[in-house]
Amino acid sequence: MLTLYQRRCPDANPDDGHYDALYAFAEKRLDRCVFGTEKPACRQCPVHCYPSAKREEMKQVMRWAGPRMLWRHPLLTVLHLLDDKKPVPELPEKYRKKK
Ligand code: SF4
Repeated sequence: MLTLYQRRCPDANPDDGHYDALYAFAEKRLDRCVFGTEKPACRQCPVHCYPSAKREEMKQVMRWAGPRMLWRHPLLTVLHLLDDKKPVPELPEKYRKKK
């Protein structure tokens, strides 16, 4: 979605490296996701590991690119939509708040 947004969205500047940095940030967050392989869709996540500015930016990217993905990558889109419906797993114990 980031690549699509960067290349096609009229509001994006494809040459400034900003989206490469955002992509690298997102990959790092995925690698370090507290849910590991059980990761829910970030939109459903109760942790929100993105700083608010980046989170808003990703929302903007997804709002624009999400509907356009259906035509370019229909299978990926369906898988993403299914992923979005999965229940959020419980946080691993070491990340839960102690009572
Ligand atoms: S927002 Fe939640 S699901 Fe997404 S990478 Fe961060 S911790 Fe994992």
